[in-house]
Amino acid sequence: MNDPVWDDHPWPGLPPVKGQFDADLCVVGLGGSGLAAVGEALTEGRSVIGIDAGPVAGGAAGRNGGFLLAGLASAHHRAIDRLGRPLAAHLYQLTLDELDRLTEATPEAIRRHGSVRIADSPEELEDCQRHADALAADGFAVEQYDGPEGQGLLFPRDGAMQPLLRCRLLAQTVLGAGAILAEGSRAVAISGECVTTEQASIRCRGVVVAVDGRLEQVLPAVAGEVRTARLQMLATEPSDEVAFPRPVYARWGYDYWQQLPDGRVALGGLRDRFEREEWTVAAEPTPAVQAGLDRLLRERVGVRSARVTARWAAPVSFRVGGILPVCRDVGGNVWAVGGYSGTGNVVGSLYGRAAARLALGLPLSADLEALPVG
Ligand SMILES: Cc1cc2nc3c(=O)[nH]c(=O)nc-3n(C[C@H](O)[C@H](O)[C@H](O)COP(=O)(O)OP(=O)(O)OC[C@H]3O[C@@H](n4cnc5c(N)ncnc54)[C@H](O)[C@@H]3O)c2cc1C
Repeated sequence: MNDPVWDDHPWPGLPPVKGQFDADLCVVGLGGSGLAAVGEALTEGRSVIGIDAGPVAGGAAGRNGGFLLAGLASAHHRAIDRLGRPLAAHLYQLTLDELDRLTEATPEAIRRHGSVRIADSPEELEDCQRHADALAADGFAVEQYDGPEGQGLLFPRDGAMQPLLRCRLLAQTVLGAGAILAEGSRAVAISGECVTTEQASIRCRGVVVAVDGRLEQVLPAVAGEVRTARLQMLATEPSDEVAFPRPVYARWGYDYWQQLPDGRVALGGLRDRFEREEWTVAAEPTPAVQAGLDRLLRERVGVRSARVTARWAAPVSFRVGGILPVCRDVGGNVWAVGGYSGTGNVVGSLYGRAAARLALGLPLSADLEALPVG
């Protein structure tokens, strides 16, 4: 079994590209980041072809937890330690603005009820306080939280989404605006002037490779900068045993779950408990991690009897030696973008848009101002 809970809407599929094409920009990878890059190019009146080896959002973008969190993968106080307060605060604001953009673009796929971070130990509760203090000092909304999930923090501007639906809606929008999108079209050779698939050759002026999981395989130039890991999840049938109005991040963010409007619970985590096994480019769920998730569901989350109806996994890439995603020209105007360290839904959209502009030779727009790239 490797089917996400999200695949409950019709999708007609898109044919592969065949033959010769010309475009200003070619985008490799049609997850949330690649689709954001396609959209940005169209906004600038440029021609764009987006290709994916599989279906639209067949990777992590359509198989994730659906959390829409402001900020980077590192909590704000840790981002300040690594980047300094001005840059960390600026990035936090950019992600909040991007969240608003995403909500406006696909309101039917997004709920903005906030998110909660729950502490599982006194030490983590102290860390929550440092987290809250850092956000408050920069004027960002955060509240103390004490509820059925436990004690911690509430971030009122965060949200949750149906990730596969969102990507499919985005794909429909860019197709309607003139993009060519193709599924079943793996890039087998990539240069800044031409992207080749088994059946097509796309001549272009720049390329964005928006492949988060396995980025180092597609572009070996970034091999020392990112490392691919597998993340796994499961989901239940609708349950009235629990009531979680917001997505929950617990145990330093290693465990996470959200309850969908119809009562189904989608849950993931335990990467730290299976760290060695999960540094892999494989994308199949495994019995050991899934058994651990079952225990988490029953013992920690409190869903005692609802049946598990979906189990899935997907690869993502973690940044090595830094906390900012990779977004750089790896040579000849081929822009690599990825390394979101497990939280690419919002940041990936920002960086996908930035990479598109840079590959097209455009300056970063005001809504991407001072985003660290290159
Ligand atoms: C289980 C799980 C839970 C997660 N939960 C969250 C969460 O709650 N919130 C959050 O923000 N993030 C979460 N993430 C991370 C998030 O899903 C990713 O960071 C994000 O989706 C990356 O999107 P992307 O578009 O950059 O890349 P991807 O979704 O990885 O898309 C890349 C696409 O590129 C295609 N591709 C690969 N190679 C080629 C090639 N050679 N030619 C053409 N196409 C190619 C793939 O088929 C794929 O469709 C989670 C990830 C997983 C796996």
